[in-house]
Amino acid sequence: GIPVPAGRMAEDADAARRAAEALGGARWVVKAQIHAGGRGKAGGVRLCRDLDAVEQAAGALLGSTLVTVQTGPAGKRVGKVYVEAASSIARELYLSLVVDRDRGCIAMTASPDGGMDIEQVAKESPGRIVSIPVDVDDGPAAADLARMAGFLDLPGMHDAFAGLAGDLHRAFVGLDASLIEINPLIVTESGELLALDAKLALDDNALFRHKDAAALRDPEEEDARETEAARFGLNYIQLEGSIGCMVNGAGLAMATMDMIQLKGEKPANFLDVGGGVTEDAVIEGFSLLFSNPDLRAILVNIFGGIVRCDIIAGGLIKAAQKQAMRVPGILRLVGTREAEGRKLIEEAGLDVRWARDLDEAAELAVAAAREGEA
Ligand code: GDP
Ligand code: MG
Repeated sequence: GIPVPAGRMAEDADAARRAAEALGGARWVVKAQIHAGGRGKAGGVRLCRDLDAVEQAAGALLGSTLVTVQTGPAGKRVGKVYVEAASSIARELYLSLVVDRDRGCIAMTASPDGGMDIEQVAKESPGRIVSIPVDVDDGPAAADLARMAGFLDLPGMHDAFAGLAGDLHRAFVGLDASLIEINPLIVTESGELLALDAKLALDDNALFRHKDAAALRDPEEEDARETEAARFGLNYIQLEGSIGCMVNGAGLAMATMDMIQLKGEKPANFLDVGGGVTEDAVIEGFSLLFSNPDLRAILVNIFGGIVRCDIIAGGLIKAAQKQAMRVPGILRLVGTREAEGRKLIEEAGLDVRWARDLDEAAELAVAAAREGEA
């Protein structure tokens, strides 16, 4: 029920033109449809005054790589654009809902300085942001919303704002969201509230009960390595560091990443291979690590209980046969079938260093990564 401008997705310049025609009106906005914000400042949001301009803007954006403050230096390839009926903007506000772990509730945050980078507003003028706690079941309290509307300077629009804030809370809870951020929430020249852009994060664990939301999933917008890992039942998250990690158990994987940071380097990924992992999945896991161009060392931290050290070792050897292991491997393999695993690796003659415990493993991995840099 949150009001948004009319718009259509397009995958080529022709379709963008037809979308604008179908939408009608005299001005349109063509937006790079990537999963990252900061598009406006990077030239990914183009205001168009005629259909030729729409076609041109779409042609220029599609297939290009957009680098915004949120994409990282590599940027994101634009595969789709969103063509929208342009709005006449009187003011740009910011409004969001997020799970607030410190306060144990949902927090609604608002600022009269929307449109721009909210992190920057928070840093430079914290007085321009307010945040109120929102009860999960009851929604935002009327008195809090009245104060917030006053702070946002919305004379004559307090009821409209309270209605929208209430709808936003229902959307948040109803969608099992962890974040809904509307930036900008605009006041149009005719005095209406309109959500011009939004970012939503839904809880993966609840996606099974939101088939319509799950259907919107766009694998092209996700990290290819993460998608590939998921096919093998591996829990893999791409990060920006140089030390590739293979660990069993999410807690141990996080401790391993912490140790790497403590020793002064950054992990290249999170990877929890879980308990009953097969050799095929281990091969896949190592192949994912190897395919990372930023990789400088590999840290394997296996505390073998259900998982067997010889399966991990066998997987490493087979992965290294498929694709050369370009960097040193630091292995801490203890527990079930430890001796067998070690023997396999030694016989295969891989470039590895053995560590007794996590502390030593992290130290060796950081040293190896720095050698690689030098
Ligand atoms: P983001 O930069 O990725 O967050 O993309 P947004 O969709 O928020 O667009 C960025 C900025 O483009 C907004 O803050 C507006 O200033 C401008 N913009 C977006 N849509 C329109 C529109 O319909 N009309 C006008 N005049 N400006 C727009
Ligand atoms: Mg925005």
